[in-house]
Amino acid sequence: MIQTKVLIIGCGIAGATAALRLAHNSQRQITVITRTPDPHESNTRYAQGGIVGRGADDSVEICLADILAAGAGASSPQAARILAEEGPSLLREILIETAGVQFDQNADGQLIWGQEAAHSRRRILHVGDGTGQAIITGLIVALRRCSNVTMVTDATAVDLITFPHHSRDPLAAYQPITCYGAYTFDRQERTIHRYVAANTVLATGGLGRIYRNTTNPPGARGDGLALAHRAGARIVNAEYVQFHPTALAVPGAEGFLISEAVRGEGGILLSPDGRAFMADYSPQWKDLAPRDVVARAIHHQMETNGYSHVLLDIASHMSADAIRARFPNIYATCLKAGIDITREPIPVVPAAHYSCGGVWVDEWGRSSIENLYAAGEVSCTGLHGANRLASTSLLEGLVWGNRAAQHIEDTLNQHPSPQIPGRDDVPPWDESGLEADADPALIQGDMQTIQNIMWHYVGLVRNADRLSRAIRELRHLQNEIDTFYRTTKLSDGLIGLRNAVEVALIVAQAARHNRASRGCHYRQDSVSVEGDRLI
Ligand SMILES: Cc1cc2nc3c(=O)[nH]c(=O)nc-3n(C[C@H](O)[C@H](O)[C@H](O)COP(=O)(O)OP(=O)(O)OC[C@H]3O[C@@H](n4cnc5c(N)ncnc54)[C@H](O)[C@@H]3O)c2cc1C
Repeated sequence: MIQTKVLIIGCGIAGATAALRLAHNSQRQITVITRTPDPHESNTRYAQGGIVGRGADDSVEICLADILAAGAGASSPQAARILAEEGPSLLREILIETAGVQFDQNADGQLIWGQEAAHSRRRILHVGDGTGQAIITGLIVALRRCSNVTMVTDATAVDLITFPHHSRDPLAAYQPITCYGAYTFDRQERTIHRYVAANTVLATGGLGRIYRNTTNPPGARGDGLALAHRAGARIVNAEYVQFHPTALAVPGAEGFLISEAVRGEGGILLSPDGRAFMADYSPQWKDLAPRDVVARAIHHQMETNGYSHVLLDIASHMSADAIRARFPNIYATCLKAGIDITREPIPVVPAAHYSCGGVWVDEWGRSSIENLYAAGEVSCTGLHGANRLASTSLLEGLVWGNRAAQHIEDTLNQHPSPQIPGRDDVPPWDESGLEADADPALIQGDMQTIQNIMWHYVGLVRNADRLSRAIRELRHLQNEIDTFYRTTKLSDGLIGLRNAVEVALIVAQAARHNRASRGCHYRQDSVSVEGDRLI
């Protein structure tokens, strides 16, 4: 058993920020675990467009208004205000000064503020189109300088340790649910450890991989959401899964994100026969309409006309040199896939991109379980409401990673010797009698089944029949996977499969329960609450 003051599960922008803030106090022992061998691997790493700051003609009120408008009436004004007020100074302090991220500047050394969809001001800081890579590299370099932070890679959290569930004391049943760390699977040794902690921060990121088409990397399978749900945490807004309108639709490079910034810099969506169509769906914003509107417009074009994709044309609106300078990764990746974006339009389709809902947290990142915090994409602060405004998620991870750490620090200062269970208080993981290794074909097959169900029945356009069908099929699958899980030795893939089916059910059930179309949750069979924004 390993004891630590604070256990942070996940090492993207949210987890790394929380660890960095806590590390200010050299008395604190912090353990950060991540399931991948390389700590950089995370959704954070793939963020392209950038991170919201405060542009030259910008203000807290203007930023707040843009977030609330994108959130389709469901964003928490309090959370949005926290982000708009605290975000820009934390960005400077943590990302620029501590992590040394060099955001793009002009020849005079002034920061370049980018434009993205549904932002009324130029306020996005970026590092070419590799912003996430620059951020996570800087944060991990900074973390490695902190001698009181232990970073453990290849460690997959299996379940949270919560009392009364894992307590040996029958009287614990009368106490609130309290988290004391996590059981983790060591992928190298193939053993299970107990990490016991006074405070735990879930920072495990999103769930895009439960869908067939997604921009998310393989690790985004909703692990943290499933862990928290099994422990009894309150989950909110799970139906609001944002679909990015433009993922590359070229065989072999599917899912690669074509950043919103491409439309921000003048890119126009075209049908395969060259007709610009966004004005038909959003006369005011056209190609810079909120994501949900653009994604559904593309879906509608594809469905009604039988297109396999639509096109995104930047070549006619920017010089070749400017394209290569502003979008070097997109240019190189598309070129490798056979598309020269300086000369021809890019084939694109919508893909699952971001989870606006998640583990409910308050303004300090506290979940409904005692001692359990959540930050970043796994959490729901209420900021994104029914639809996230572009480039606010990195900033949310930064602000709430910092806030969760601040709250933990204050609490530890008030109660310097918090109760941490001892070796005999938490039962070791029991795998006795399990000899069979998980069959990778079963894991892959079941995962693909989940992804197909979610894509067809819980996707961009939903209705009661599709959702009920999804829930029936997912329940059946969950029973099968549960048997598989209980009769097989643990592996990272099996842990992910168990979590994916649980999270798919959470999303499908929330979507069936919510009959009102709003933001990125679109029900064909319900009356719109947004009138003119629906198609
Ligand atoms: C292609 C792409 C482009 C994007 N572009 C932008 C953008 O331009 N601007 C913007 O603001 N947002 C963007 N986003 C969204 C943004 O990147 C994410 O929302 C954000 O990075 C999430 O950060 P996080 O710290 O919450 O999670 P992540 O960065 O995903 O980190 C999760 C961490 O948890 C670990 N983990 C997961 N499960 C377990 C487990 N069971 N046990 C142990 N560790 C675990 C992972 O290994 C990882 O270290 C983009 C997302 C994608 C996919």
